[in-house]
Amino acid sequence: MTYGDETIDVLIIGAGMAGLAAAYHAAARGASVLSIESSLPGGQIASVGRIDDFPLPVELSGAALADAYLRRASDLGAVFVTTTVEAVTVENDHVEVATGTETFRTRRVVFASGSRRRRLEVPGEADLTGLGVSDCAWCDGSLYRGASVAVIGGGDAAVQAALHLAGLNAHVTLIVRGSELRARRRYAFLALDNARIDFIWETSVERFEGADTLERLRLRDRVDESVRELPFDGAFVYIGTSPATDYVPDTIARDPAGRIIAAGQGRTSVQTVFCAGSLRDGCGAGVTAALADGELVATAVVDDLCGMD
Ligand SMILES: Cc1cc2nc3c(=O)[nH]c(=O)nc-3n(C[C@H](O)[C@H](O)[C@H](O)COP(=O)(O)OP(=O)(O)OC[C@H]3O[C@@H](n4cnc5c(N)ncnc54)[C@H](O)[C@@H]3O)c2cc1C
Repeated sequence: MTYGDETIDVLIIGAGMAGLAAAYHAAARGASVLSIESSLPGGQIASVGRIDDFPLPVELSGAALADAYLRRASDLGAVFVTTTVEAVTVENDHVEVATGTETFRTRRVVFASGSRRRRLEVPGEADLTGLGVSDCAWCDGSLYRGASVAVIGGGDAAVQAALHLAGLNAHVTLIVRGSELRARRRYAFLALDNARIDFIWETSVERFEGADTLERLRLRDRVDESVRELPFDGAFVYIGTSPATDYVPDTIARDPAGRIIAAGQGRTSVQTVFCAGSLRDGCGAGVTAALADGELVATAVVDDLCGMD
């Protein structure tokens, strides 16, 4: 793929569902599109085996949905490269986007780099990742059929993962920092009613322990400060996400949580820079919101480019 000195119409950073939808709809409207993704297309939903809250009569995996968008956008001429964007420089009439090895010049850029999963950052977590500690119930869950696993977290993703693991016959313990689940009511009801899911409330994980693989978790009760150790074969960490904005210039306005502040059609405080999906302050939390935002922003970008002529 050579872009050489060519100036791209739209460069999209991130090929999660918002970025894929933006790539598809911008290409469908005739723009030249380059998408840069540091990992596998699909983003956070790529590893989810069955997308929930997605109104289709068939079960659909995140990977299948991502693949459909990737293929259709590629058919329309969008180009996808796998590398990480490290820096973005806004010039007068264009934007420069640098990876470790190349710099691309684009008329408009769309930040669609979403969020990355938070880690607990306690002792043992990094050392035992892949050795019993995981952040993907759909990738690793089948290793724990009939086994005892902990899921750490109390939001939608944690409870969705716990239900998936319980469906694989694992015995699941949800370890929750607070005194109630933050997940949507339907998930909460299903989990509270599931005989394979137990709950430990108001408790923090202090340490993951094991010689070669995970053997136990050291837990601290947040009310009386007591400490105990419980044996587990596996542990899945689902404690939320934070915006992936390492490359975003300081001139782009953000909210206190680090999400980019953008107007209705994804326009940021800089005219040539747009933002789509979960990275954007106010975008909804699910796949349908990310897809809709990607389309909305692509339309605004192409309208903007047409206005340039
Ligand atoms: C475990 C889990 C389960 C979920 N289940 C559901 C569900 O069932 N139904 C539902 O509707 N929603 C679900 N969601 C929420 C849904 O996945 C997100 O709302 C949606 O995927 C957000 O899409 P996005 O494109 O905005 O961001 P992301 O999915 O975060 O995609 C951003 C992409 O940008 C890439 N990127 C980041 N930084 C860079 C960089 N510097 N250079 C290049 N690329 C970069 C990332 O690798 C990533 O692929 C779930 C989320 C999680 C975490």
